[in-house]
Amino acid sequence: MSSKKQTTKAQIFSAAEQRAARSERIEVRDAEPYGWIAFSESGTEQNYHLFRDPDMKRLACTCADFIYRGDAEPRYECKHVSATLKYIARQYLERDYDPRRQYARNTTASETHDDARRAA
Ligand SMILES: [Zn+2]
Repeated sequence: MSSKKQTTKAQIFSAAEQRAARSERIEVRDAEPYGWIAFSESGTEQNYHLFRDPDMKRLACTCADFIYRGDAEPRYECKHVSATLKYIARQYLERDYDPRRQYARNTTASETHDDARRAA
């Protein structure tokens, strides 16, 4: 309750929001043979390789920020992860998104849910 009040009053952006803003200036491309490369804002810094962690099924980054903060916060997303998630989402919408498939999946899910309810 108190945090909501603070945000509306002072327009304080959370760390995640600030990272999201910075992620606008990161260019992402597909990497070979898989994964993604994030190019930093300045272009002089190192580029980072991102890949999907097979166990977590989440993006992992090779930058120091992700490696050290990620240890303490398992759901931590560095600015490269934020940028790459947006890149993947745009590609998905352009190339792979199919409303009929989504509908079919949702229908199946609710049927399963109904079955579970009936069985209970
Ligand atoms: Zn990173």
